[in-house]
Amino acid sequence: MTDAAPSASSPDQSIAEAVTGGLPAAVADLGNLVRIPSVSWPAFDPAFVAQSADAVAELLRGTGVFDRVEVKRAQKAGFPDGELGHPAVLATRAARNGKPTVLLYAHHDVQPPGDEGSWQTKPFEPTVVGDRIYGRGAADDKAGVIEHVAAIRALAETADPFDLGLAVFIEGEEEHGSHSFVNFLEDNRDALAADVIVVADSDNWDTETPSLTVALRGACAFNLTVSTLDHASHSGMWGGAAPDAMLATIKLLSTLWDESGSVAVEGLTWHDAETPAFEETELAASAAFADGVSAIGTGSVLSRLWYQPSITVTGIDAPSIANASNTLVPQVTVRLSMRVAPGQTSDAARDALVAHLEANAPFGARLEFHDFEGGDRFLVDTRGWAVEAAKQAMADAWDKAPVEAGIGGSIPFIADLARVFPEAQILVTGVEDPDTRAHSPNESLHLGVFKRAILAEALLLARLNQRS
Ligand SMILES: [Zn+2]
Repeated sequence: MTDAAPSASSPDQSIAEAVTGGLPAAVADLGNLVRIPSVSWPAFDPAFVAQSADAVAELLRGTGVFDRVEVKRAQKAGFPDGELGHPAVLATRAARNGKPTVLLYAHHDVQPPGDEGSWQTKPFEPTVVGDRIYGRGAADDKAGVIEHVAAIRALAETADPFDLGLAVFIEGEEEHGSHSFVNFLEDNRDALAADVIVVADSDNWDTETPSLTVALRGACAFNLTVSTLDHASHSGMWGGAAPDAMLATIKLLSTLWDESGSVAVEGLTWHDAETPAFEETELAASAAFADGVSAIGTGSVLSRLWYQPSITVTGIDAPSIANASNTLVPQVTVRLSMRVAPGQTSDAARDALVAHLEANAPFGARLEFHDFEGGDRFLVDTRGWAVEAAKQAMADAWDKAPVEAGIGGSIPFIADLARVFPEAQILVTGVEDPDTRAHSPNESLHLGVFKRAILAEALLLARLNQRS
């Protein structure tokens, strides 16, 4: 073993040996899943998603610990004619002797490969280069699937008695909106009920440092149409006295931020929590700032990304330059995309932003709001016993304390899990690292991270199996 062994007692040592012994099979199983191009987007053959669900079900059956393993689908919410989502895998095993039940989540569908010419290896041919394995889904999230399988195998090999209850839910359409997710939870509420939920679909601080994701920003987006004139007018004749919609839009949008670029909208909340050190120079390099460009906002860099709201104009419908005649533009539409701080619902944040815009519309401009989309934030209650157990298992497996991390992006389905199972403690873990490039060409998994993530989960399960 090249990694530090867990320091404590011999049960930990036997788990570590089982994980190490099982690693070649885990990597081979991961490779077999990567070879199935289970892209869940509509333009791709759904037969591969079904094939991938069957392969995952077979792996779970192979562990020999489940009472039932099924491939199941649920109706998409908000789609006509009872359209079904892609197949998911559900495996359950009842708890014995009053032990807790753990729900393990991952997803077996993947993003499209994108431009294949940008890949240095074939996207659906798992390829090991150095200490990484490349391929679409090699990390996001087929490694999460195999992390669960490998941890269960290690537990089955070492636990005596094996009393822990398990439910495994491997979704088939996470990369395309999780449209049947809520109905799947409702349809299988009893089978999925658990004391602890492990969502293995996030990342780690770096390849040597684990993280437990404790906060996710919510999201809210809508189109805003600003109208000032009933039709376009000659700018020479009327410019300077008649208000054009572009002027009104620019003045209105500029009220959304203060001088530093921080959001300045009354009613949007900030979340207060410590963040690890991260310099503006690192930010500039990671986010590809052009030369001489400086960061926006105030407070620590990571608090801006994880715990503060942000508002971005992501599109404008206005005359193009090619069509720019000398007229006053009567109407402009912009797409506003907001990230919502953990601690505030996206509905409350949307209401605050709409109220701000209405209160600040210049020249009596008419505002219309349409095409709303949103997803809720998620904040882990870090005082729960499962959080403590997970952090200890990570520390033992990685030989380094985990970072409690926020994520600037949003995983709306986690808020759904929290709503349907309010009693469960939710742990967001993962197998990714800063070089994973999930969703991009040359996606890869660090094999050392993979092993440590499996060991951390196996240790957690083994300790929950002991918990009275
Ligand atoms: Zn994912």
